[in-house]
Amino acid sequence: MTIKDHPSFAAQFQRWFIRAWLIDVGLFAGGLYSLKHNDIILGWTLAFGFVGFTLFILAYGYYQLFHVACPDCSGQTTTQKSNSRQVWIAVCTHCKVTWNLKIGTQAVD
Ligand SMILES: [Zn+2]
Repeated sequence: MTIKDHPSFAAQFQRWFIRAWLIDVGLFAGGLYSLKHNDIILGWTLAFGFVGFTLFILAYGYYQLFHVACPDCSGQTTTQKSNSRQVWIAVCTHCKVTWNLKIGTQAVD
């Protein structure tokens, strides 16, 4: 097994994650603002939107993490934690390459 850095996963994942959280924070702030100004229906709609979107972020984040395509053969890899290196890795059995996803396991746990 050779170990290589995945060329794009970390950048794409982090960009998506930051954008998603900004939207989520916006929903939360909008909900609080609306409730404070007696707009109960809009406030609770945004609050439920915040909860639903938070679950979506976690679910889709995990989905992306466990469905990494191999950059060399485009095949499906197996994602696992590398406890010694404190990062997530994706193993392609076809190419015999371990891709370092450069996403820390401590931040995800
Ligand atoms: Zn491969």
